[in-house]
Amino acid sequence: MINIAIDGPSGAGKSTVAKAVAKKLGFIYVDTGALYRAIGVNALRLGYDTTDREKVVSTLKDVKLDLRYINGEQRVILNGEDVSEAIRLPEASMAASNVSAIPEVRQFLFDLQRSLAAENNCIMDGRDIGTVVLPNADLKLFLTASPEERAMRRHRELIQRGTPVDYEVLLEEIKQRDYNDSHRAIAPLKPADDAIIVDTSGNTLEESIENVLALIKEKLGIDTEN
Ligand code: C5P
Repeated sequence: MINIAIDGPSGAGKSTVAKAVAKKLGFIYVDTGALYRAIGVNALRLGYDTTDREKVVSTLKDVKLDLRYINGEQRVILNGEDVSEAIRLPEASMAASNVSAIPEVRQFLFDLQRSLAAENNCIMDGRDIGTVVLPNADLKLFLTASPEERAMRRHRELIQRGTPVDYEVLLEEIKQRDYNDSHRAIAPLKPADDAIIVDTSGNTLEESIENVLALIKEKLGIDTEN
């Protein structure tokens, strides 16, 4: 199986780029952030503080997570319920960041991620895919952009969705999540030694997708023009 790892901070365009590239290649796209979000949402629904390790760990024994692909779109199924929309609510982002710092949560999700990669040609995006989950991935990319640019993109996206949030609030949240993700003791966000850094600042989404496709062609010899 061919495995492509895409890591990077939130808002760098990983998921949009990975989704589009996976479609072109006919690979599945695995959004691992969605798994952390599902664990976070589940803990929130139980009324738990998502930074409370003991409480969050106690939820895991009752969690069954599945990823399903409908028309190439990943759906996240938590104990039989499709939570693909619920995990995108604003409170799910910080909850995901909080639970992702808990070693038991990372271990819990590790096997699921590994088996998806073993069974499918896939593009997997996350924070530790190239460093921890798929250290032998065929290609590792680290997609990044400045915090200001990422906050601006998110700002525009939320306006389009009709749920605007202040730019300054988004910038603060992005900085906070970056800090959390790159300073945690376990699997911190950092490029793998053999990752190629792709800075998407100043690029349109289309340009970022083209850049990544060009790298895939160059490094893996997979041509996606037709
Ligand atoms: O990618 P997304 O923003 O949906 O991820 C939500 C949170 O899940 C991130 O802020 C990060 O803390 C965590 N995460 C992680 N490892 C991954 C994917 C996501 O720690 N592989």
